[in-house]
Amino acid sequence: MQVPATFGYELAPDLAGALALLARHGPDARPIAGGHSLLPMMKLRLAEPTVLVDINGLTELGGITVDGDAIRFGAMVRHAEVLDSAVVAEHLPILRDAERVIADPLVRNRGTVGGSLCQADPSEDLSAAFSALGATVVITSRDGERTVPVREFHRGPYETAVAHDELVTAVRVPIRPATGSAYEKVERRTGDWAVAAAGAVVSLDGHTVVRAGIGLAAVGAEHFVAAEAEEALRGAPATAESFAEAGRIAAEHCRPTADQRGPVDYKRHLVGVLVARTCHRAAARARGEV
Ligand SMILES: Cc1cc2nc3c(=O)[nH]c(=O)nc-3n(C[C@H](O)[C@H](O)[C@H](O)COP(=O)(O)OP(=O)(O)OC[C@H]3O[C@@H](n4cnc5c(N)ncnc54)[C@H](O)[C@@H]3O)c2cc1C
Repeated sequence: MQVPATFGYELAPDLAGALALLARHGPDARPIAGGHSLLPMMKLRLAEPTVLVDINGLTELGGITVDGDAIRFGAMVRHAEVLDSAVVAEHLPILRDAERVIADPLVRNRGTVGGSLCQADPSEDLSAAFSALGATVVITSRDGERTVPVREFHRGPYETAVAHDELVTAVRVPIRPATGSAYEKVERRTGDWAVAAAGAVVSLDGHTVVRAGIGLAAVGAEHFVAAEAEEALRGAPATAESFAEAGRIAAEHCRPTADQRGPVDYKRHLVGVLVARTCHRAAARARGEV
């Protein structure tokens, strides 16, 4: 079925208005941001919201700004803005790497940071990248704001911590010293979803890894994270051997499934290679080498 069920439409005037509309229309209403995930799901009747609350006019949900020792992304920031951002290029190259391989310019011009996280697709690249970065998600309701670590935000495939009368309003990423980051994805063809993807954030003290964040997409990693590999890297020397071992551990602990993109063994192999490679590149960036 390629035609959505009947639905109502409300254009929210501002954040307070959007939250009031969501509360008034109840659990069957849904906010719509870029629409690049929700509309296809409605056409397939995998989602049948009774009312769409359009949040595209909410200017307070825009902007990428440095806010103390963190970078704040408004929920309505489009993929294309992340890709073009000088702040992102300077501090968070993992996001620029990821955005280069998300879909195509049409999708990147409309799809949003908030929509991507809220869709909670297990193959979602930004969820893996923000998890590696240890980001915090800001959720707003009529009662005020609360913050949730991104690693607690995703409750499972297509499930998040956001209630029906709440909106994600921002994502905050800490700026860490002596830190580099990188993201790589293997796709069957340009613009496709990942066969497997990995992102790494490596903080160094001299030649020692003091903190590592490793995110995985499309391979069944809980909360998009390779926690055992992160743990193995903490305190390890920043060498090719350490990064290869982190890749081996990540490959062992992820849980990919066989599908049209490839068999399980192939995906595990990719995880091993991509984790080692992104850790290596992140460490080089932390040292200012690339
Ligand atoms: C052809 C195609 C290829 C793609 N390829 C990739 C890819 O390779 N990698 C990748 O990561 N993604 C890919 N995507 C997904 C793309 O990144 C979408 O933009 C993204 O998943 C959803 O963002 P959106 O703003 O369009 O959200 P929408 O479709 O508007 O919304 C998605 C969900 O989030 C909810 N929502 C939206 N905003 C908020 C908010 N602020 N607060 C609470 N709930 C909210 C909606 O109610 C809905 O349930 C692809 C999409 C398409 C169409």
